[in-house]
Amino acid sequence: MEFKTGDWRSVKPIFLSDKCKQCGLCFPVCPDDAIPVNKEQKREDFNYDYCKGCGVCSKVCPFGAIEMK
Ligand code: SF4
Ligand code: SF4
Repeated sequence: MEFKTGDWRSVKPIFLSDKCKQCGLCFPVCPDDAIPVNKEQKREDFNYDYCKGCGVCSKVCPFGAIEMK
């Protein structure tokens, strides 16, 4: 928790919540656990303290709800 991998990021995933179907594919693949999931098992916006911008979540999203910028 003390090691903030977000410092490594050169590209940033943007969560497009209107396109998200809450399919649950993105958060298990994040190597830094940077996609918070709430008590209703729905994903919330990125935790940029830990997101290192690898882009894996964007690749797996079938609905185009994660755009890399
Ligand atoms: S870009 Fe990589 S580190 Fe950031 S939330 Fe997506 S999978 Fe996790
Ligand atoms: S993979 Fe895409 S549609 Fe599925 S929960 Fe993640 S952002 Fe939403």
